[in-house]
Amino acid sequence: MRDVEKPRDETAGRSRAELCDVAVVGAGPAGIAAALALAQVGAEVALIGPAPATTAGTSRETRTAALLASSVDLLKALQLWPALAPHAAPLEAIRIIDASRSLLRAPDIEFKASELGLEAFGYNIANITLVEALYARAREILPAVVPASVTAIAVEGNKAVLALGDETKLAARLVAGADGRRSICRVCAGIEVTERRYDQAAIATSFHHTIPHRNVSTELHREQCSVTTVPLHDPHSSSLIWVGSLVEIAALMRRDEAGFGDALAERLDGLLGAISAIGPRAEFKVAGLVANRLAANRTVLLGEAAHILPPIGAQGLNLGLRDAAALADCVAAALRAGRDPGGEATLEAYRNARGLDVMTRTVGIDLMSRALLTSLPPLQAARGIVLHGLSALAPLRRAVMRLGLAPPTELPSLMRGASG
Ligand SMILES: Cc1cc2nc3c(=O)[nH]c(=O)nc-3n(C[C@H](O)[C@H](O)[C@H](O)COP(=O)(O)OP(=O)(O)OC[C@H]3O[C@@H](n4cnc5c(N)ncnc54)[C@H](O)[C@@H]3O)c2cc1C
Repeated sequence: MRDVEKPRDETAGRSRAELCDVAVVGAGPAGIAAALALAQVGAEVALIGPAPATTAGTSRETRTAALLASSVDLLKALQLWPALAPHAAPLEAIRIIDASRSLLRAPDIEFKASELGLEAFGYNIANITLVEALYARAREILPAVVPASVTAIAVEGNKAVLALGDETKLAARLVAGADGRRSICRVCAGIEVTERRYDQAAIATSFHHTIPHRNVSTELHREQCSVTTVPLHDPHSSSLIWVGSLVEIAALMRRDEAGFGDALAERLDGLLGAISAIGPRAEFKVAGLVANRLAANRTVLLGEAAHILPPIGAQGLNLGLRDAAALADCVAAALRAGRDPGGEATLEAYRNARGLDVMTRTVGIDLMSRALLTSLPPLQAARGIVLHGLSALAPLRRAVMRLGLAPPTELPSLMRGASG
């Protein structure tokens, strides 16, 4: 690597006068995947950000991620899937149940991967397992993994200079901001955001149940509330996402394990048999945010720094991983052509590659979230008509499934699997 510290530098308190192609800011799943994808296409990469919490430490990360096939293909291309597969559960079907008390109650509907000729829609895996594997690989293959926070970024001529919390500086042609919802990269690049309010929160946890999940994820929707179970590797364990009003979620968080178990059992109504062994619970504010530009001032945004979606339809991280893989394509093209990887042509290529996918997912998930949780009779009626159609018409069901699985644009190279 040109002028970047060799070998990996995890020491603080000294000056770094190096210049790398891309400084990836944020060691969350989107950022680490981007750093690995960029390294794979030959870019000189530094990954900067506090080390992720591990299972050994205390972590608030109780979420799992349902990864679609293209995300799994990226992990395969990064040689990570063999280590992750034993911890992942296939999602063979998704069942949607309208548990509202509305007179316009919609029919139950089941989407089966087999209807599309697929073994599974994707695989569910604990975020912490995924991030641990990604980070271990980053430490193994990246020449610069710097566990410090970025405190400021300034563009100086043809480079961006990043000031780090350990009093050092690092320079890069391009900054890949994967530093989450309160992204400092976004602020320093002068990129504004559009936010949507939901006044809702979500609890993510896991639980044990006596009836096996048969690799089926179930979404139960009620007015202002949805409860989703997602299969885990153990056939008698599922992860849980409970979305509700701020008041309902705060009350559920206050309950002890037995009290929460009772509330969950009441909601599931015997669907998975008797439940026990509720895991640690963490609360997440439901948010909607999209950056008004995906790239500016030698900075591209990816993952939750660029877009936050309500946790419905398992889209958030899948979108972030598509950002990561698309960025690798854009930077690879710049390097092949001998262009500046942080120059305007690369930024424009990234905006073009990601704009439509990000826009359609943020609008689509917003509409879905409002329609599924609505208590307004006209919207309930519209939702009922759509779900009746989906339940009765296999071609419509297949079209919706394809829409959920694939972006409206071509997949990035590292996500094209064996055919790519
Ligand atoms: C309840 C729930 C369930 C979900 N389920 C799914 C699902 O099934 N499928 C799916 O695809 N998505 C799902 N999502 C979305 C998914 O969890 C997120 O999209 C994903 O975790 C975001 O990853 P990220 O890397 O973009 O951000 P983060 O994980 O927030 O990472 C940001 C990183 O940046 C670092 N950072 C912050 N500031 C700085 C700084 N100044 N300097 C350096 N580093 C910094 C942080 O330390 C952190 O490591 C779910 C979300 C929720 C809330």
